[in-house]
Amino acid sequence: EVIVNRIAAGEVIERPAAAVKELIENAIDAGALRLDISLDGGGVERMIVTDDGVGISPDDLTLAVERHCTSKLGDETLVHINTLGFRGEALPSIGAAARLSITSRPKGESGAWRIRVEGGKTYPPEPVAGAYGTSVVVEDLFFATPARRKFLKSARVEGRHVESVVRRLALAVPQTAFRFVLDGREVLDLPAQDMAARAAALLDASEADGFLNIAGEREGMTLSGFICPPSVHRSTANGQFMLVNGRPVVDPVLKTAVRVAYRRVIEPGRHPVVALMLTVPPEQVDVNVHPAKTELRFADEAAVRSLVIGTLQRALEHGAG
Ligand code: ADP
Ligand code: MG
Repeated sequence: EVIVNRIAAGEVIERPAAAVKELIENAIDAGALRLDISLDGGGVERMIVTDDGVGISPDDLTLAVERHCTSKLGDETLVHINTLGFRGEALPSIGAAARLSITSRPKGESGAWRIRVEGGKTYPPEPVAGAYGTSVVVEDLFFATPARRKFLKSARVEGRHVESVVRRLALAVPQTAFRFVLDGREVLDLPAQDMAARAAALLDASEADGFLNIAGEREGMTLSGFICPPSVHRSTANGQFMLVNGRPVVDPVLKTAVRVAYRRVIEPGRHPVVALMLTVPPEQVDVNVHPAKTELRFADEAAVRSLVIGTLQRALEHGAG
């Protein structure tokens, strides 16, 4: 069992950012209105994700760290991208590869309970003091899977990957407050807000920058969002956020379409700053369900491309969507 778990762990959790993504998705699934994320050593030394969601009862704590135990079968929540086949894998995988501790107190309970799993060994839950909600602490990631540990980059690089995951998830749930502290530095402190305010905060742009509201429609698909004029740009693509049907994605078709839309107006080597929300009829998009990736396949790629390019170019020309 322990060996199987360790093999599975490397597949599901390939770096700190993947673990943070799973923990944040769990918190969102639990209805969190406030999320606190804090990392040391780029997440390898320690990551703490605390939420004010429904919590986990002491009996369910033991189940939560067992393989294939999920309370969510058949549930299609907003950002939960891992569909059948990878359900119930995250916590056991993290527990197999690291020192995992989950403290949780469901609403109405008089106290919290904590369970620990270290390198695949589970210790019985014990009562502790704790607030409502759940706090997950992961320490020494991959201490039990040295082969995986070897592939880790520096704490700075791993931390940057985590930051990018946190920002993308934060866009998907603007009604959830986010605080993110990376190696002692507060990176995000976002209140519950509407999508426009959340996008502006994540893009680090405002109406003063000429922040444009966009909207377009084509063949059952809709595109909305916020884009910055070409005068606001970045040296990398880290100012680009995309949600497809409410889920954060990194998709080459969308990225290319954004680049093409700006090609004539932005300086070479500069990257546009955009937050795009695309909705596609579910039967026209295939989400490849490997937990470490977010790959999309659109039934009609050309239509997606022209929707994005057309809507963005119109907005750039006319200054409005
Ligand atoms: P999955 O999310 O696919 O169900 P996980 O291994 O990520 O699998 O989590 C296992 C179970 O633990 C979840 O189904 C859920 O019931 C519970 N759980 C995990 N994290 C939280 C949380 N932050 N708040 C409430 N319940 C949680
Ligand atoms: Mg999960």
